[in-house]
Amino acid sequence: MNPWFGKAIILASSIVMVVIRAPHGQRSRGVKVVRSRRGAMELLLLTLAWLAFFVPLVWVAAPVFAFADYSLYPVPLLAGVCCLSVGLWLFARSHADLGTNWSITLEVREKHQLVTQGVYRTVRHPMYSALLLYSLGQALVVPNWIAGPSYGVAMALLVAFRLGSEERMMLEEFGKDYEAYMGRSKRLVPGLW
Ligand code: SAH
Repeated sequence: MNPWFGKAIILASSIVMVVIRAPHGQRSRGVKVVRSRRGAMELLLLTLAWLAFFVPLVWVAAPVFAFADYSLYPVPLLAGVCCLSVGLWLFARSHADLGTNWSITLEVREKHQLVTQGVYRTVRHPMYSALLLYSLGQALVVPNWIAGPSYGVAMALLVAFRLGSEERMMLEEFGKDYEAYMGRSKRLVPGLW
């Protein structure tokens, strides 16, 4: 198949992702941060995530990664579109449910409320599930060994190194309420883990 199918899909998905996040980013900037855990590790993970977000866009725009291209087939393309669509839907839902409690990093905001409803009812990190699903979709629609898995690598590192600290921060902030929430929910996959 023509790789331009993959290029058009990942370009559109990246735009949708930015459009979903932009209003939440703007709104949360207006809510004071009362506690922050943005250490060196967080800075490194966020920088990696940003760089990885742009890698497929560079692949779309210029032939720098052309040496790592491979052929695109309809089945992975279709499976990838499904993962991207569900990932983007969950990304939008988790932003909507988290509201002004959302932060790009580990922060507690003024009047921070523990959200346990909506897509947060069964899993504690639906936004990370969304990003991982999106990454899988990207790997399937981008037929390039570098640009395809780039976001997945960054997201896997983010989740692996952030999840524990985030849950410790939430436990310190919400105590028994978060402990009870942990007891009735999973981390990333409903009913599984
Ligand atoms: N890990 C969550 C949220 C990602 S945004 C997810 O994947 O859906 C990261 C910020 O969200 C953290 O700084 C924390 O302050 C906040 N947060 C995480 N879980 C929350 C919850 N259940 N209720 C309210 N805020 C939460």
